[in-house]
Amino acid sequence: MSDDSPDSGHAAGVPSDRYDVVVIGGGQAGLALGYYLRRTELDWVILDDQEIPGGAWTHAWDSLQLFSPARWSSLPGWLMEGAEDEYPTKEDALGYFTAYEARYQLPIRRPIRVESVHRAPDDSYRFVLHTSVGELFARAVISATGTWRNPVLPKPSGGDRFEGVQLHSAEYRNAVPFVGQRVAVVGGGNSAAQILAEVSRVAEVLWCTLEPPSFLPDDVDGRYLFDQATIRYRAQQAGLPPPPSHSLGDIVMVSSVRDARDRGVLVHTPMFTSLTETGAHWEGGRSEPLDAIVWATGFKPALGHLNALDLRTSKRRTPTRGTRSVEEPRLWLVGYGGWTGFASATVIGVGRTARQTVSEVEEALHA
Ligand code: FAD
Repeated sequence: MSDDSPDSGHAAGVPSDRYDVVVIGGGQAGLALGYYLRRTELDWVILDDQEIPGGAWTHAWDSLQLFSPARWSSLPGWLMEGAEDEYPTKEDALGYFTAYEARYQLPIRRPIRVESVHRAPDDSYRFVLHTSVGELFARAVISATGTWRNPVLPKPSGGDRFEGVQLHSAEYRNAVPFVGQRVAVVGGGNSAAQILAEVSRVAEVLWCTLEPPSFLPDDVDGRYLFDQATIRYRAQQAGLPPPPSHSLGDIVMVSSVRDARDRGVLVHTPMFTSLTETGAHWEGGRSEPLDAIVWATGFKPALGHLNALDLRTSKRRTPTRGTRSVEEPRLWLVGYGGWTGFASATVIGVGRTARQTVSEVEEALHA
């Protein structure tokens, strides 16, 4: 039987409370880990606190488009279907993740929330996990909880006085609530550009950014960003200094963003300095009335469930070597960004990180 066939590999069958490995989080990173764990003889499970498959993607706005064509947005073993020149939609991605879980019969238990991870008093199981369904024991833990639970929300001066609506891109679904309004979209990345493109069809929009946004050429997509990450990774592996960055840009010109440019609305303005009850102020005396602000200002890793392990943290990161915690040798972290493995926050990149992580876990548990 081919190792890539849907029903090969080992999976934990009957739910138990003791495992060799518990993966926390069933988003794309959890699935990639599952793909490689099923090739091992370990007893393992994935715990996910959502009702349905898809992780962060289930919380994305309705019109979200991926950065790269389907084949370049695929997890290990099985390509997402789709045309070479089309960016998959949120629905395409959710359909793919759902089918992927089923295809490989990944043992995902949901909804189960891991409240906290502790060192276990019993030596044979290193960790005890306090979960929404009781205690579970694990010899190793892989944390793959993503970032969507931790939106970054700047606090501008006067922010509490603003009487309009403020929401983060994590809560944004579509432009319907903003029809006929004056809306500021804050942030210089892909989320801001896609949300601006949509809201500007029904509202008057100001695009506020700290730095001027940089756009990729129309014929260049997320594969370029991935290739750049690969070059940096290879240099790091070879012990070389990071290569100079020749970034062509950050924002991928998916169809909605190209359309916004063609309508003349893809125009940024500097970040405002304060808010009042009814609008925003800029240095130099400019002020604008606003009904709403959409903060597309990014996310931080969701690591609160690891607090009881008392690991050093800085800027919501904890030191890792590759994906392995420097301070807790039976803990790995996957998917949060480049600091947890090569391109590990992308669908295509997390496969390589997951393979390496599973091989380390296997080695550690068999040692
Ligand atoms: P998540 O998808 O967040 O999965 C983590 C899971 O763990 C979630 O289900 C969460 O609820 C659960 N969880 C969290 N805490 C606990 C807990 N304590 N107990 C149990 N479960 C828990 N990436 C690409 O590769 N290609 C793209 O084209 C692309 N386009 C993007 C476009 C935009 C506009 C944005 C904003 C992002 C895009 N991304 C893209 C990035 C991608 O969405 C995320 O990086 C990715 O979802 C992270 O996957 P993950 O598995 O690490 O985390």
